[in-house]
Amino acid sequence: MRAAVLEQFGRPLVVQEIELADPGPGEVLVRLVACGICHTDAYTASGVDPSGYAPCVLGHEGAGVVERIGADVTMVAEGDHVVTLFSPQCGECVHCASPDTNLCLAIREQQNLGHLPDGTTRLSRQGEPLRHFMGTSTFAEYTVMPQIALAKIDPQAPLDAACLFACGLSTGLGAALRTAKVRAGSTAVVFGAGMVGLGAVAGCRLAGAERIVCVDLSPQRLELARGQGATDTMTGGEGVVEKILEMTGGFGADYTFEATGNVKVMRQAVEAARMGWGLCTIAGVAGRGETLEVVPRYLITGRRVCGSSFGGLKGRDDVPALVDRFMAGEIDVAPFISHRITLDQVNRGFELMEAHDGIRSVIEF
Ligand SMILES: [Zn+2]
Ligand SMILES: [Zn+2]
Repeated sequence: MRAAVLEQFGRPLVVQEIELADPGPGEVLVRLVACGICHTDAYTASGVDPSGYAPCVLGHEGAGVVERIGADVTMVAEGDHVVTLFSPQCGECVHCASPDTNLCLAIREQQNLGHLPDGTTRLSRQGEPLRHFMGTSTFAEYTVMPQIALAKIDPQAPLDAACLFACGLSTGLGAALRTAKVRAGSTAVVFGAGMVGLGAVAGCRLAGAERIVCVDLSPQRLELARGQGATDTMTGGEGVVEKILEMTGGFGADYTFEATGNVKVMRQAVEAARMGWGLCTIAGVAGRGETLEVVPRYLITGRRVCGSSFGGLKGRDDVPALVDRFMAGEIDVAPFISHRITLDQVNRGFELMEAHDGIRSVIEF
């Protein structure tokens, strides 16, 4: 099959023919139909990611069709439409059993090493193993993944839109709906209007927030935020916290969301949360070794800070439900698909992302 291989950090991906072995027990062969290009792919490709490895096949925002199942697979069947999950849901580990976290423990260690759960790879080239990325490796015509990492969705859902639910969009929606559990009638501020921030704006709207302020540096992105339900927009930078306090009677917002990964913005998000009960949810990923500065008085006076990975969503349960809400017309996905490209144009997708041109480039296979 054809796949985009990260050969060397800091170099363009190389699209080439590689081999994919049959799915083993508990594994599934998926034919990819669409795949978004996300910052995490670029972060690893750049070499900055301390846990990155090469060579490997990148990509983690995939959607496709189950082509074949291995032995003992019960969760999906041939022909099912699926979204790939870098954050799996085994349903059995102590974290899956808890309503308080989505961080499934079942395959973490092998996944972090670029292996499938049995410690080997299905990807290879001239007999040499190639590693899987995030357990997904969706910059390829096909992938083999564990069944616990596939969300079975409505077969009517267009897969070019569904793939965005594999990462950024679900992360933002979940941060509002699942992690923060935004209440109807509340005030929310979302810092950052990329895929995650726009998802958080949409999540706040679905939760019935009365006032949703979105903060970003780009007027185009703030316009998109209005389309997702932001009632107010604001240009980021110095003085944002003061402006938010002014807008909220001097108290701050019931909920704030950080979706830029910038630790200075994270601090603003903490300080813009309301005294007494304001909840700041951190969804952006900070750079290696960076720390968040918080004046403890902000916490003593009732603000809380929490983090959200993949929006706190349990993927196999929650992603199909979000896709259903999209199909019901509650989530407007079309404005997020800025560019449609082929697998051979994958490096162009990275360039567009670096130039902040649009929200998502989607590879169509
Ligand atoms: Zn991602
Ligand atoms: Zn689990």
